[in-house]
Amino acid sequence: MVDFKLSQEQQQLRQLAHDFAKNEIRPASAHHDATGEYPKAVLQKAWELGLMNTHVPEEYGGLGLGVLDGAIIGEEHAWGCSGISTAIEANTLAEAPVIVAGNDAQKKKYLGRMTEECLMAAYGVTEPNAGSDVAGIRTTARREGDAYVLNGEKMWITNAAYANWFFVLAKTDPEAGHRGMTGFIVDADTPGITVGRKEMNMGQRASDTRGIKFEDVVVPAENRLGEEGFGFKIAMKAFDITRPLVASGAVGVSRAAYEHARDYALERKTMGRAIAQHQAVAFMIADMAKDIEAARLLVWQAAWTIDQGVRNTKLASMAKCFAADACHRICSDAVQVFGGNGFNTEYPVEKLLRDSKIFQIYEGTSQIQRVIIAREVLGR
Ligand SMILES: Cc1cc2nc3c(=O)[nH]c(=O)nc-3n(C[C@H](O)[C@H](O)[C@H](O)COP(=O)(O)OP(=O)(O)OC[C@H]3O[C@@H](n4cnc5c(N)ncnc54)[C@H](O)[C@@H]3O)c2cc1C
Repeated sequence: MVDFKLSQEQQQLRQLAHDFAKNEIRPASAHHDATGEYPKAVLQKAWELGLMNTHVPEEYGGLGLGVLDGAIIGEEHAWGCSGISTAIEANTLAEAPVIVAGNDAQKKKYLGRMTEECLMAAYGVTEPNAGSDVAGIRTTARREGDAYVLNGEKMWITNAAYANWFFVLAKTDPEAGHRGMTGFIVDADTPGITVGRKEMNMGQRASDTRGIKFEDVVVPAENRLGEEGFGFKIAMKAFDITRPLVASGAVGVSRAAYEHARDYALERKTMGRAIAQHQAVAFMIADMAKDIEAARLLVWQAAWTIDQGVRNTKLASMAKCFAADACHRICSDAVQVFGGNGFNTEYPVEKLLRDSKIFQIYEGTSQIQRVIIAREVLGR
């Protein structure tokens, strides 16, 4: 039996997130895109409505919602503005390794505090010389008594300047490749941490991305996630949760672009009729509608699968890759439908095109998703 109907709770959740996106995120979107100012006030309201950290288990003060619930919310938020929704999702990305591998004390302390006040967290894996090649990271964690001493540099860390704590992947055994990596929870105010300047990115400018330097940063051993050597596994398992969520954001941006393009095509006239009546334009709109449905189905399947406790690595990569590639294509076609106006900042679709590109890059590029899918279907 296959059932595509959302439960009544999920329908209410969707409505709540949609209303929030329409009334709070969209009106703030242009300002944060133009100024790059961090959308703290919007995040605070999302937190008050229970639209952030939704997957934190109930025993640690959260709502204990599933990945599918998160994907439903994520699509709506990104429909409002994916720069703002990325700031929200970065919390989920940082929390996921703690959910996957944290012990009770770590969950109580670090997940619990996210539900007590509106705090941000960040996921620190990428480095200046290691993005796709996670095994190539150079940050080290040296054991010294009851603590580890971290040294190294992270790059492109979303929420870095506003995070209360970071998930950090470091090498405890630099000679052992991905088996020499260990995950840590690091309090952001620990001495020796320096957060860099805000990166000026092409899109999603409301989101804050920075480098982080660790110089002799002392982290208590009790903040180690799982055993030494399991960090890579934990970081990758977190992606099984978060890739469907990122993909849901791509669906949200696609939907926004499609709606703008559809409405414009029905209004704008050339050669005596609405451009929607020219088949070349109508087919672009039809392809958008088709790809959005297909992307959402993949996202929901990947999310539902992990909610059932079943490994979803292949589906998560398929959803992320398909939704991201479709999103960039749809946003580009939306600009095309708008003609010259599409290229102009007075109209909404140029921002969507700028925002759409990053979905093919962060949380594993579209090429890396294909590497994973190929490995899953062909074997190692
Ligand atoms: C706005 C933004 C926010 C981000 N947020 C975070 C965050 O919060 N935390 C975090 O840890 N990271 C974050 N990242 C980093 C992001 O995940 C990496 O940029 C991404 O994984 C790609 O790594 P790279 O930039 O080093 O590119 P590279 O790995 O250098 O890749 C360059 C190109 O080569 C291709 N390529 C590389 N290796 C292969 C291969 N084996 N097969 C085929 N093609 C390949 C890639 O697909 C890409 O096209 C963020 C990045 C950006 C831009």
